[in-house]
Amino acid sequence: MIRTRTLLFLCALACGAISPLAAQSADVAAVRTYADSHRREIVDEYLKLLSLPNVHGDAKALQANASLLSAMMKKRGVDTEIWPTSGGVPVVFGQKLVPGAKRTLLFYIHYDGQPVDAKRWAQPDPFVPVIRTDSIEAGGKVVTDLTNATYPDAWRIYARAAGDDRVPIEAILCALDALHSAPKENVKIILDGEEEGGGKGLSEVIQQYPDKLHSDLLIILDGPQHPSGRPTIYYGARGGASVNVTVYTAKQGMHSGNYGNWMPDANVRLAQLISSMVDVKGKVVIPGFYSDVLPFSAEARAMMDAVPDQSAQMQKDFGVGSLDGAASSLQEGLNMPSFSIHTMKGGEVGGVIAASATAEIAMRLVKDNEPRVMAQRVIDFIRAQGYFLVDKDPDVATLAAHPKIAKVTSRSLAATSGGAWRTDPKDPQAVFATNALKSAWGDGIVRIRTLGGSVPASPFIDAFRVPTIGISIANYDDNQHTDNENLRLGNLFEGMVTLASLMVQ
Ligand SMILES: [Zn+2]
Repeated sequence: MIRTRTLLFLCALACGAISPLAAQSADVAAVRTYADSHRREIVDEYLKLLSLPNVHGDAKALQANASLLSAMMKKRGVDTEIWPTSGGVPVVFGQKLVPGAKRTLLFYIHYDGQPVDAKRWAQPDPFVPVIRTDSIEAGGKVVTDLTNATYPDAWRIYARAAGDDRVPIEAILCALDALHSAPKENVKIILDGEEEGGGKGLSEVIQQYPDKLHSDLLIILDGPQHPSGRPTIYYGARGGASVNVTVYTAKQGMHSGNYGNWMPDANVRLAQLISSMVDVKGKVVIPGFYSDVLPFSAEARAMMDAVPDQSAQMQKDFGVGSLDGAASSLQEGLNMPSFSIHTMKGGEVGGVIAASATAEIAMRLVKDNEPRVMAQRVIDFIRAQGYFLVDKDPDVATLAAHPKIAKVTSRSLAATSGGAWRTDPKDPQAVFATNALKSAWGDGIVRIRTLGGSVPASPFIDAFRVPTIGISIANYDDNQHTDNENLRLGNLFEGMVTLASLMVQ
């Protein structure tokens, strides 16, 4: 029995399967039928969008994206505007207002993507989409002849931004097609072209068009689904802050034969400093690091515990031999601040002792944290280890005057890619969204209290105090931000149903 259950569970994992609800509304059922019977044209349109390069910062390329996206929205009868921004990357805005609508939904999606390193991809060009019968890892074969294709759920489209974050754009527009462009709620869509690289555009249009952007509920459409493949809703996300630290031991590297045992090694000093911040289990020992996090309520704890925990399978999939011990589970860990060293660099070739070494300390922070306070705790800790702190490269006299010296700079992610936020899952608008998804998918949806990564909800929340939730559509193994990014077709079709469910309550 246990074995059978395990097999079923693994199949559900592998197939990304969730069954539609028997008691779904007629509208949702109609969207489901439409998605099934229009697979070819949905995918055709999506392939055209994926063929446009959209690397963040490339204003010219992103302007071309904005034109196509605007045309796609207009085709659905959405009142569409292209809003210029100071960085030259437009924001595309569209709305479909419905007389007598009970609420206004604002969907946020970004249309820019990460840079590509084409050599690392299994296809020549990440902007010439390739269809496979399954994921590369599962042995998916390239499909070249689409003449009689039925576009099964398991097929994948490999292309940059296929998962992050163009799929919700295609899904919401095709959901409108399925609803004959007649949603029951007011629908507003904002397409941001500066999410990946950061930029002022979003803040500018929030200042410029507050009335247009006013809504009762902000829905962030970004991030991958839970690995179970079930529709996933989140009620918060982490923000972040970083501290860069460079330790110095001399004005230049010195010969390790002539000066070994005399000149201190900056690489060793940096390693010692970093290791003094974290205990052997992975808990950060910087005073106050965890102290801002409010105790989890019984409801919060229950929500975290209800998320399927697939640690054992994920350890196998990703080759993780042992887990960090800072939290008792993945979900608990996502509701706490985390500490990573994104890069450590030091030394040089040529047989010399390193004179300087740098670490980029990255913290993911939860709603209860204040980024500046957290960065200051790290800086105070470094000082408490006997370091004299400077904010620019020290000269020889300064170096000689201090036994231990380090340069520190800090940055809060709140200014660029979003601070932490959380909406009470009992907020009436959050309850509306939860129930909408349940109306399409039943109780099997995955509800996440805090998404681990950052999404740019804060500028809206700061300006409008608007209840906010997020919905993830892309498959969890979409390789976003790296090579061979892909989208499982079933996620696009299911995404249409999920987004339609919000528009027809
Ligand atoms: Zn994204």
